[in-house]
Amino acid sequence: SARWAKAMEIFNEFEKKCETPIERLNLVADAMLDEMNAGLASENGNQLKMLISYVDNLPTGDEHGLFYALDLGGTNFRVLRVQLGGKEGRVLKQESTEVSIPPQLMIGTSEELFDFIAEALAKFVATESEGFHVSPGRHRELGFTFSFPVKQTSIASGSLIRWTKGFSIDDAVGQDVVAQLTKSMEKKGVDMRVGALVNDTIGTLAGGRYANKDVVAAVILGTGTNAAYVERVSAIPKWKGPLPKSEEMVINMEWGNFRSSHLPLTEYDHQLDIESLNVGEQIFEKKISGMYLGDIVRRVLLKMAEEAAFFGDTVPPKLSVPFVLRTPVMSAMHHDTSPDLKIVGSKLKEILGISNTTLRTRKIVVDLCNIVATRGARLSAAGILGILKKIGRDTVNEAQKQNTVIAMDGGLYEHYTEFRECLKSTIKELLGEEVAETILIELANDGSGLGATLLAASHSQYI
Ligand code: ADP
Ligand code: MG
Repeated sequence: SARWAKAMEIFNEFEKKCETPIERLNLVADAMLDEMNAGLASENGNQLKMLISYVDNLPTGDEHGLFYALDLGGTNFRVLRVQLGGKEGRVLKQESTEVSIPPQLMIGTSEELFDFIAEALAKFVATESEGFHVSPGRHRELGFTFSFPVKQTSIASGSLIRWTKGFSIDDAVGQDVVAQLTKSMEKKGVDMRVGALVNDTIGTLAGGRYANKDVVAAVILGTGTNAAYVERVSAIPKWKGPLPKSEEMVINMEWGNFRSSHLPLTEYDHQLDIESLNVGEQIFEKKISGMYLGDIVRRVLLKMAEEAAFFGDTVPPKLSVPFVLRTPVMSAMHHDTSPDLKIVGSKLKEILGISNTTLRTRKIVVDLCNIVATRGARLSAAGILGILKKIGRDTVNEAQKQNTVIAMDGGLYEHYTEFRECLKSTIKELLGEEVAETILIELANDGSGLGATLLAASHSQYI
């Protein structure tokens, strides 16, 4: 029918615009590399902030004592405590709890947000059980994982550059987040000192290194996306401080803000961007991370419904609601292996109010999920290649057959199997079999919280 032909026209055009042939991915990786160098050279005006973390030493295994961590940066925040027992005991005991952030607090005032967090922390501290000991005469210490772009001023202070991932609290921008947290903790009677302010990528890198000494970079693919890696200080022209003993510095790339003319751009990406809370920012993130993938699919389906009556004579009203189609639902549809695509059918009904879909229609929905996930996974692989090039791990070093491990975290990578497998196979495709064998991606399940406690331990006021 004419309607179907029109729908296919929209579909085919989208598919074509999303193509990521290997040559294009190499251009993306090279552009990433160039932007990394630009961000390391100077402080201002670069899309990649390449933030200096003040972490010049990663965990060794010697860390001892009771430490807390607070992980804020997604839809949930986590509070964690660990009792560390050094090289012998390692993690002696660990407890955590997760609290979801009421949506109105994500767009309210900074005081409300930090008070809410401090209160949850107070409740958690009150449940400290046997096996956890603060050393006599000490205060409790906390590693704060705050996964938004921050300009650090020391290991335990830094001001918020801007919000991402749906947070938008104007009065917090430019403020020291540790000072705000500390004020709220005092108000709520939490006796704790913030020993390290990090980001989830830095936390994941630290936790990853604790588990495996070959870890040199960390990537997050969750609601948002970001990466961090270990750089030589001599390669950071903008660093004006003293040369650390390690001669290394962990860099928080804030790669979500990467953009390049080599990134595939469709009208749906453009529309998603201009309707977002952070127009023109986080362009890479808007193509690859969990917050957005489902919404790109929704936008294509909406256009097909509006212009080709893809779901019948009326446009299903729910299809116009931003973010109704979440990435976990997209992933469930994409992984549907039943012959009649039963899961696709029920999700379309349940989430979008579209009933009685034909198999042919359902297949197109799966194909759309595949296009969007594949593009995201392949672009993520290109970003990783950029980092490997930067640290000279994109070729085999014959002299020292070293492994390169990337600590990976985030619900998108963890749960979206097609996405994860595509990312891995694209790394192989980009590097070739021989090099790819030396590159390992390790899922560091919630390593960032542990990493933050480890960094609080190694930056304790008592050592
Ligand atoms: P955050 O990034 O908020 O810290 P996570 O790392 O747990 O939290 O990632 C959560 C994100 O992962 C969700 O926003 C969603 O986009 C994605 N996600 C979670 N489960 C799935 C799934 N089953 N399939 C695809 N994506 C998922
Ligand atoms: Mg997270």
